[in-house]
Amino acid sequence: MEFRSHMDTALSEARASASRGEVPVGAVVVAPDGRVVAAAGNRTREMADPTAHAEILALRAACIAAGSERLPGHSLYVTLEPCPMCAAAISFARIARLYYGAADPKSGGVAQGPRIFSHPQCHHVPDIYDGLSAAPAEALLRAFFAKRRP
Ligand SMILES: [Zn+2]
Repeated sequence: MEFRSHMDTALSEARASASRGEVPVGAVVVAPDGRVVAAAGNRTREMADPTAHAEILALRAACIAAGSERLPGHSLYVTLEPCPMCAAAISFARIARLYYGAADPKSGGVAQGPRIFSHPQCHHVPDIYDGLSAAPAEALLRAFFAKRRP
């Protein structure tokens, strides 16, 4: 099957997050046949839930759709490098491929910080592709945080 990036969908979820006053991060889960089965943006403030990151919400919705807590063969697209919590959830869900946009030196858990997937206690490691549409993802985050600074 020809590769088709779903980062544009993730970016529109990120933009929708920003318009709700949430940190602009968006995530999309794609089934093995190429169907988008879930898309979500951050809702931590709205849901008063520190775990309501875009990746977690997208994984939950995709698992409900699949009727399974595991999503073998699925891909996850996210505009920002996943945090340690989301990286662990991606591993638990057996996501096959992780595509992410901007690097997150402050809170990332994949290429920096805890590097969740590099530990022997991490029992499933997805194929990882970083830097996809990183520039627009970074621009969204920069604009969001610039506006919030007094
Ligand atoms: Zn996260």
